[in-house]
Amino acid sequence: MLEGLQQLIDLQQIDDELKACETELASLPERRVGLATERESAEVRVTDAGEAVRAAEMQQRTAESELEDKEALLGKLEAQQFQIKSNDAYTVLLREMEEARTAISVAETNILEAMERIETATGEQDRAERDAKLLFARASTTESELDAREKEIGEQLSQQHGTREELCGCVPSEMLAQYQRIASSRRPAVAEVRDGTCQGCRTKIPAQLHVEMLRMERLIPCTHCHRILSPGTEAK
Ligand SMILES: [Zn+2]
Repeated sequence: MLEGLQQLIDLQQIDDELKACETELASLPERRVGLATERESAEVRVTDAGEAVRAAEMQQRTAESELEDKEALLGKLEAQQFQIKSNDAYTVLLREMEEARTAISVAETNILEAMERIETATGEQDRAERDAKLLFARASTTESELDAREKEIGEQLSQQHGTREELCGCVPSEMLAQYQRIASSRRPAVAEVRDGTCQGCRTKIPAQLHVEMLRMERLIPCTHCHRILSPGTEAK
């Protein structure tokens, strides 16, 4: 094979790996932000559920206090009915007693409703707390995995940079410059030829150029996309 071409192909492989590592590394901060957001919403859900329980308990206490007041009032009114002298006053008293009984009934209904609300809210609070606990454990595991992966990628990158430097030293400088010029605008920069076709742009290589490429005396660029052509498995 042409001197430097195999190293160029290896270099391209390393460059692809470097790019993949850099892309993954760049995605890590966003993934950490995603975990923090998930944790925050789980915390908000727990807080909201707790507030709903407290609001329902407050509603129950208010209704209980209302019930107590109206029962006391009714007792007082009932005691008065034997001391009433006039018919008009008696009519007023009966109406007030009726109003107190209605208020008692409303308060009792409110207490029942509040108790139901407490039960529902407590259930949601339990679920929110359980979900948050699971999510926190999972997020913490993922966090550790991301940390480990970050360290691993760092090591891979430094290894790849070392290999890249070694390979660059083995490729004739003109060839390297040509590769880098092409790689900066399109990938792969080195395209394999299969069945006489450039695998970079899928264009058929002119027969004469194909023969010349297989001779491997110099670098042959694709006439269409200008990528460096490699004979791949076609080379005998
Ligand atoms: Zn091409």
